[in-house]
Amino acid sequence: MSFDSLGLMAEIHRAVSEKGYSQPTPIQQQAIPLVLEGRDLMGGAQTGTGKTAGFTLPLLQRLMQSPPPGKPVKGRQPRRVIRALVLTPTRELAAQVAESVDVYGRYLPLKSAVIFGGVSINPQKQKLVRGVDILVATPGRLLDHVSQRSVDLSKVEILVLDEADRMLDMGFIHDIRKVLALLPKQKQTLLFSATFSDDIKKLANTLLKSPALIEVARRNTAAESVSQVVHPVDKSRKRELLSLLIGRNNWRQVLVFTRTKHGANRLSEQLNKDGITAAAIHGNKSQGARTRALADFKNGNVRVLVATDIAARGLDIDQLPHVVNYELPNVAEDYVHRIGRTGRAGNEGKAVSLVCIDELKLLNDIERLIKRDIDKLVIDGFEPDPSIKAEPIRNGRSGSCGGNQRGGQQRSRKPRNGKSSSAGSSSRHRRRHNGGQSRRAA
Ligand code: AMP
Repeated sequence: MSFDSLGLMAEIHRAVSEKGYSQPTPIQQQAIPLVLEGRDLMGGAQTGTGKTAGFTLPLLQRLMQSPPPGKPVKGRQPRRVIRALVLTPTRELAAQVAESVDVYGRYLPLKSAVIFGGVSINPQKQKLVRGVDILVATPGRLLDHVSQRSVDLSKVEILVLDEADRMLDMGFIHDIRKVLALLPKQKQTLLFSATFSDDIKKLANTLLKSPALIEVARRNTAAESVSQVVHPVDKSRKRELLSLLIGRNNWRQVLVFTRTKHGANRLSEQLNKDGITAAAIHGNKSQGARTRALADFKNGNVRVLVATDIAARGLDIDQLPHVVNYELPNVAEDYVHRIGRTGRAGNEGKAVSLVCIDELKLLNDIERLIKRDIDKLVIDGFEPDPSIKAEPIRNGRSGSCGGNQRGGQQRSRKPRNGKSSSAGSSSRHRRRHNGGQSRRAA
């Protein structure tokens, strides 16, 4: 199937051709006609499948095909209003979606803006005042704008919830519900999620009207183009093994996952000492530092990007060849998200997990989720010491396996999606919910 057969307008077609896409990915083939028809959509698609263009291309076309609300005054066009809203869980994903909107919409007279936290709110306000048709936002910062009256969501025609499962995991459900209450009842809603928990289904039931269901990869399965292997190894030797794998195999671009921010910092420092250029990316870093680290990684200035799950969410790095789970995630679904960073849009990818004895239960959970055993390969010279006993993993850290505890600040455990009184500002509310994030060691 080619893009020609999808009925996209010439301006969008041109932008897509210039981007170098020769044919639509499976999710684009399915989603584009349905969205163009005006249907609500529930899309099961991992990141890396081309889902962003899957919703952005028809969204742009829908906006072009229906007249903007308001009447021209004295021959002048009415002020722009926000007609499409895309909500994403993370700043990085918001920035990437906004970039896609810009690229795919470059030949259209539509304006877009992106708003997320961690940066000054004023430039965002100024952009909003000038008027935008499409707004890409993270829920928290969007509510900050709502409370400062710098956005009006009452004319939204199309709502996209991107990576909805992650937004719920991050405790954004209350913020999302607040945003939903500000939108018109009559609208087209598109919900994308890599996994379908009961919570996602509940949200979809309240939000979507007779949605079309599309799913491109089997639920909770890893992309077929990713080869997966587990190297059993003692925790104390993981760093040494990682350096060896990178050096011996001459890996040039490796995304490495740790469970904690502290672990990400420490590993990146150690790799640099080993002569392997590395940078860390996590929620405690300023937006500037995160953007810089990502840019350095993308352009090859640093070879290893060490990330926590939440920071890495939505990173779109073309043809990322290697993902390493330095520590397995506490939540099995995160494994699927992590390795979805590689093998994107059909490219070959390799996902390597360094697993110590404390993590065997986590590995078991992952294998149950993806319904397959992952090959285990002990690397010569790194055989696990059979005398080491497993210790429980708490708060993202473990005893023998979680590594050096000194210097690490133990975070208190907060309830996931902790119930709270309804009073309070959105930012206070969010802080409470970020307990969920810290528990997941963002
Ligand atoms: P996404 O799943 O939206 O994050 O997209 C993953 C990657 O696939 C991005 O780098 C896109 O630029 C790329 N991509 C999207 N659509 C296509 C296509 N039709 N052909 C080739 N690459 C694509």
